[in-house]
Amino acid sequence: MGEGRGISVGIRVIRLDEVDSTNDYAKKIARKVPEGTVVLAKRQTAGRGRKGRRWESPEGGLWMSVILKPQRVDPRLVFVGALAVVDTLSEFGLSPGIKWPNDVWVAGRKIAGILTEGRAGEYTVLGIGLNVNNPTPPELQGDAVSMLELIGTPLPLDRVLERLLFHLNAWYKVFKERPELMMAKVRERTFILGRTVKIIQDYNVLIGRAVDVLDDGSLLLDIDGQLRRILYGDVSLRFF
Ligand code: ADP
Repeated sequence: MGEGRGISVGIRVIRLDEVDSTNDYAKKIARKVPEGTVVLAKRQTAGRGRKGRRWESPEGGLWMSVILKPQRVDPRLVFVGALAVVDTLSEFGLSPGIKWPNDVWVAGRKIAGILTEGRAGEYTVLGIGLNVNNPTPPELQGDAVSMLELIGTPLPLDRVLERLLFHLNAWYKVFKERPELMMAKVRERTFILGRTVKIIQDYNVLIGRAVDVLDDGSLLLDIDGQLRRILYGDVSLRFF
């Protein structure tokens, strides 16, 4: 991968036919492998979204986790994944946007999800699930979409992976050196701004207009004229 020389994401790719979850596998080996190691599986039998929600991962999609060892745990690492997916999809002629905090959508449907998990001071696992050639779950018809469905022809998975690794490297570098530049791009690519959204935080539900994504990664919500900062965490966002 010419463009990837000298940088670390994808320095080593562990390819598995099947695994429960690439994030779980990555967490088990994280301490023993160099930063940038990628775990890639053809299928996940127990792919997860946040809060243990199921992520459907049949063969044909890109199911992977990157082991990162940043100086400190930073919730904004999720945006390294989201921006890399956005840039990759753009190269394939699609018009993706970030649905804060951790999904990528195209044409009103979810095409990718990002899940970061880690252990403070040790590692962060950046999990990415991207629907490429796989069928999307029938129960999510209308909510989920794949590259195949949008482009009309199957894509070489390794080519998509190569572009994704390239963009992950680029954005990880920006994150480390100029995080505010990365956040400017996140703001530009976030399609929810200006829209009324519902934020679900455990037992708490907030409805307001999404105004901005701040440099710390939080979402600024206007609730009847009162501004409130929503921290990235285990919150879900729905359109209202
Ligand atoms: P959210 O934040 O939208 O609640 P998560 O990030 O927790 O979602 O991801 C899990 C959810 O994503 C599932 O509950 C399901 O609705 C959806 N989902 C599961 N598999 C896929 C898939 N392959 N493509 C798109 N969406 C999916």
